[in-house]
Amino acid sequence: MNTLLYLLGLMFVGLFAAPAEAAQPAPPQPMVGKAVVVGDFSVVPLLDGAHGFPISLFKGADEATLLAMAGKQQVSGSFNVFLIEHGQERFLVDTGNGTLRPERNGQLLLCLQEAKTAPEDISKIFVTHLHGDHIGGLVKDGKSAFPKAQVYVARIEYDYWMSDEAMRQTPEGRREAFSMVRGVLRVLEHDNLLVLFTPGEVVSPDITSVALFGHTPGHTGFMLASKGKQLFFVGDLLHAGSIQFARPDINADFDVDQSMARETRQRTLKQVAQDAMPIAAVHLPFPGVGLVRAEGDGYTFETLK
Ligand SMILES: [Zn+2]
Repeated sequence: MNTLLYLLGLMFVGLFAAPAEAAQPAPPQPMVGKAVVVGDFSVVPLLDGAHGFPISLFKGADEATLLAMAGKQQVSGSFNVFLIEHGQERFLVDTGNGTLRPERNGQLLLCLQEAKTAPEDISKIFVTHLHGDHIGGLVKDGKSAFPKAQVYVARIEYDYWMSDEAMRQTPEGRREAFSMVRGVLRVLEHDNLLVLFTPGEVVSPDITSVALFGHTPGHTGFMLASKGKQLFFVGDLLHAGSIQFARPDINADFDVDQSMARETRQRTLKQVAQDAMPIAAVHLPFPGVGLVRAEGDGYTFETLK
């Protein structure tokens, strides 16, 4: 009887705990998107997880304007990871949250399993920047999750996160990120997997790094170009499609250098729209790959089908 009461009690607590938890999006199923062919390459979007950004995170317009654009208080988005396939080679662009933040349900390894790719198959990982939702998947149980992958990080980004001065200048609530980043870098350095590069360098045949500084000081995109086709991996150039395509001047609160982030977003969206160059973005709703078109003073985004 006591056990029954205990179980009933748990159910009761569960019922009342539910509304608070409902604010977090439900853990998504592992998802592997349709491959996008780029010349000799194939790019497979993987859904590491889903999230919501409250509109209060966006700076540059009042709440009513943001609400009118977003249509709700939370902008839905994804943690997209991109698997690049080229012959027998397998690369990743970013790695999602992984097991570093269990509350965010990093599902990359499950997605890869579904895509018939073993962690050992990955030989290169291109990191857009060192935020936890991009590098969390690099480590598992204190070890490299991809033991054979060289991990490419822009030197300027590396230097920022290793700088004690930069840590001191960061608002206190966000300083913890520095020790998390350093912990991941330590694992990579120990396993001799870290490759530092200067944005602008070719990081692999047909893949060139592109400085997209602002969101973080070394935030970097990667341009895949093969047989006249292109796909531009833009990382965290933007966080809320419903707001920032129409108003590229609006920043996220966590863009480290606000004016540089704004300038980079405006310049890059103009360029990709002019060139009809498809982009692959981490936080746009899965699969996050599509075309940007100029419309009025801003842009629209059309997901590639
Ligand atoms: Zn991010």
